[in-house]
Amino acid sequence: MSENLNIAQEYKAILQTLPPAVQLTVVSKTQPAEKIKEIYDQGQRIFGENRVQELIEKFPLLPNDIQWHLIGHLQTNKVKYIAEFIDTIQSVDSEKLLTEIDRQAEKFNRKIKVLLQVRIAAEETKFGLEISEAKELFQEYLNGKFPNVEITGLMGMATFTDNENQVRQEFLFLKQLFDQLSKLRPLTTLSMGMSDDYMTAVECGSTSVRVGSAIFGRRN
Ligand SMILES: *Cc1c(COP(=O)(O)O)cnc(C)c1O
Repeated sequence: MSENLNIAQEYKAILQTLPPAVQLTVVSKTQPAEKIKEIYDQGQRIFGENRVQELIEKFPLLPNDIQWHLIGHLQTNKVKYIAEFIDTIQSVDSEKLLTEIDRQAEKFNRKIKVLLQVRIAAEETKFGLEISEAKELFQEYLNGKFPNVEITGLMGMATFTDNENQVRQEFLFLKQLFDQLSKLRPLTTLSMGMSDDYMTAVECGSTSVRVGSAIFGRRN
């Protein structure tokens, strides 16, 4: 069944469930370039990858108007491999990483858009800044500390659970922080929601969802 899944159809079905103002990042990790191209041909331009090695292998195989988003934990020493072309790094989870992104952006004479990834899940395994750290980083940014990055918003991943109420609480929590920070400087992007919970996320104020398996089928 999943072998024959028409991914273009799945993609269009997802798009139809989203309010027009909500941005869709198609998560293409583990998918070959041909499959990404199929979705690209439907008009999609934003794709998310979680590993640098995989991204730099696919990048030259695909059209150059794709806006690549890095959505997974990023090691500081790998920023240099993507700094020239990455559109947005959604997974900034430390000051050290943000400092390096700023440094590399300057080297390539550009600004790199980033989201601060905030830890909202109960699980220990998820990366992300504590609320207080996110606030501090954002304040330093407002004070001019990272002139070559643009913090456009926040990203978060809810707990992996069937308990929709818990997921909702976590999303609402992040939305609250988003509204707080937006008062200091307007933010555009609240990235929350994946295949299993994106509708809940949208109800909680997500402006940007990251969907992979609901389009491509389950990853092996
Ligand atoms: C893999 C991944 C997704 C997409 O997950 P699906 O369940 O396949 O939609 C979204 N966000 C992040 C950070 C991911 O690593």
